[in-house]
Amino acid sequence: MSSSIKRNPTREVRIGSIFIGGGHPVAVQTMCATKTQDVEATFAQIVQLTEAGAAIVRVACDSENDAAALECLSGKIRELEPKLREKINISVDLQENYRIAERIAPFVAKIRYNPGHLHHAERETPWREKVRWLVSVARKHDLALRIGINCGSIDPSKKAEENPIFASALDHVSWMRELDFDRFCVSLKDSDPANVLEINRQFAKIYPEIPLHLGVTEAGVPPIGIAKSRAALEPLLFEGIGDTLRISLTVSNDRKKEEVEAGQALLRDVAEGRRTVTEGWKHEGLNIISCPSCSRVQNGRFVELAAQVHEMTGYAREYPLTIAVMGCRVNGPGETDHADLGLWCGPECVNLKCRGVLLGSFPYGEILDKLKEQLDLLIARIDEKSL
Ligand code: SF4
Repeated sequence: MSSSIKRNPTREVRIGSIFIGGGHPVAVQTMCATKTQDVEATFAQIVQLTEAGAAIVRVACDSENDAAALECLSGKIRELEPKLREKINISVDLQENYRIAERIAPFVAKIRYNPGHLHHAERETPWREKVRWLVSVARKHDLALRIGINCGSIDPSKKAEENPIFASALDHVSWMRELDFDRFCVSLKDSDPANVLEINRQFAKIYPEIPLHLGVTEAGVPPIGIAKSRAALEPLLFEGIGDTLRISLTVSNDRKKEEVEAGQALLRDVAEGRRTVTEGWKHEGLNIISCPSCSRVQNGRFVELAAQVHEMTGYAREYPLTIAVMGCRVNGPGETDHADLGLWCGPECVNLKCRGVLLGSFPYGEILDKLKEQLDLLIARIDEKSL
């Protein structure tokens, strides 16, 4: 379907049974939101997402128990009938515990590392040494890598830069060159579609040969999550930029395949020359960003909470404020720093922040009232100014 899309001449990178770049069709990917250690649920989700058309499915792996679960999953995948088995390509999502890469390498096709998370592990080890080691694992096990940079978890040493996402990418790409390793792709994700558009254009101009994975992070619930993703991804695809993509949506586990369907619909429109967004599209009024959830969600009530926040804040739709609702501490503290009001979910309580300042941690049953109190205060200030 997507082979008719005009493409930049990026280099070909193999990820398990598929290739990205080099003129191959744009691959739609997504990520499991089940607990990785719940092998039955994760296996069912991998199969469901692959059958829906996901060329790559990402799974979070942070611990030895996750790695053991991945090993079991790999065994179960091997038992599938060949036609389905060959379509499954697992990418592992690393966090601070990057050393787990060697343990899980035999069971996956790709490793995604986040430069921001790499910084926090083994602080005495320079990041270049950590990447050198990851590259050696990838070489030994015939894997691809993704340098996955996310606005919510930027390497602290880059935060003062004018464009921290871009600065981080340039460092890592240069180091890959020095290591003489080119089996990698890059993603530059932000929750603001305009930034995603700009950064990816800039990157593709400097490194036209490097395959890009596109996505707007924390796009939120559909349909607005789809509109935000399209605002960045559609113009990029029309310009030939992008080799894989993900439409991140805050939906419950039984609806996760909607991410894949939204990605396929986007590719179909681009292939048929249909533009659905105008350049410069901006979200007007209240902007609610929320992560798509993953294995790391600390309380299953997160997705429901994100939906409740949408419903409860309906009365404030016209106000130019941003509310971030995040599933865990990974991108939660960073992303909520940039919002007017931020919620990031812990196991029992939800942390509430106002413009970067932590106001407290509240039980799930109380958080909506607390959020409304703060929202009303911000609205009162805006109304006062406009009098
Ligand atoms: S913020 Fe946490 S739960 Fe949400 S997608 Fe990121 S890692 Fe997963």
